[in-house]
Amino acid sequence: ATAACRSMEGRWSLAGSTALVTGGSKGIGHAIVEELAMLGARVHTCSRNAAELEECRRRWEDKNLRVTVSVCDVSVRAEREKLMDTLRQTLGGKLDILVNNAGQSMVKAATECTGEDYALVMATNIESCFHLAQLAHPLLLRSAGGGASSVVHISSIAGFVGFPGLAVYSMTKGAMNQLTRSLAAEWAGDGIRVNCVAPGGINTDIAKDMPEIVKSQATQLPMQRLGETEEVASVVAFLCMPAASYITGQVICVDGGRTI
Ligand code: NDP
Repeated sequence: ATAACRSMEGRWSLAGSTALVTGGSKGIGHAIVEELAMLGARVHTCSRNAAELEECRRRWEDKNLRVTVSVCDVSVRAEREKLMDTLRQTLGGKLDILVNNAGQSMVKAATECTGEDYALVMATNIESCFHLAQLAHPLLLRSAGGGASSVVHISSIAGFVGFPGLAVYSMTKGAMNQLTRSLAAEWAGDGIRVNCVAPGGINTDIAKDMPEIVKSQATQLPMQRLGETEEVASVVAFLCMPAASYITGQVICVDGGRTI
């Protein structure tokens, strides 16, 4: 059934859905996990720090949110494959939503970036995004239909705007925007929607790595403040819902007007 045929409740809910959100122990990913779980989804998330993840898991359990966790460095191909194996067990082989959120920042003059810097940012931000989408495709395909099967990438306004010191990071974010459009075109016939959220400066640890850029955001953007993680999470949740069943291939800026 299309969203238009569903009840109000069915259109604005994620009840019965399963989701994978990468990088959910902190920041934007953490807020996305909570938002999806509060809307009724069963969520699995990962990061590299086992102790921090376990602490999150306990807090989510206390809030009666259905969230499972596992350690995974998404920059490593074998770990991504293991994550998908884990997912088949924890979510019963059903996946409705993939959110590629985990990202590596890198603030360095282009002339000073080493081969290792380049490889790390590429592997974490874009290679993982492409490969996890590939790995998730058969699972997403199984639950496709009714506009409920959905991939969301978290890119950045750095994928549109030039910032000094962000050359490699920006390349990966621009690539995520284009990957979104390509996969959306390729998978529309499979019933899988693919969209992207491009945040501006959001109040997280990554923002602390970029003090000058963040400072300029606060003065150059119409809303004159950083965004909060929940303000990104709510847009991601909307894109995953049946209410958004006719939206695919879009890159939506959540940036307080920075790119207007
Ligand atoms: P945070 O640093 O606050 O959180 C990042 C999360 O991802 C953590 O849970 C971290 O856990 C996890 N993570 C990082 N690297 C890996 C990895 N290799 N494998 C698995 N997990 C990983 O960052 P944000 O919440 O700010 O950023 C989230 C996304 O939003 C990123 O893609 C970022 O580029 C994007 N973004 C952020 C903006 C901002 O202003 N904050 C602006 C625009 C885009 P751990 O380190 O323990 O692995």
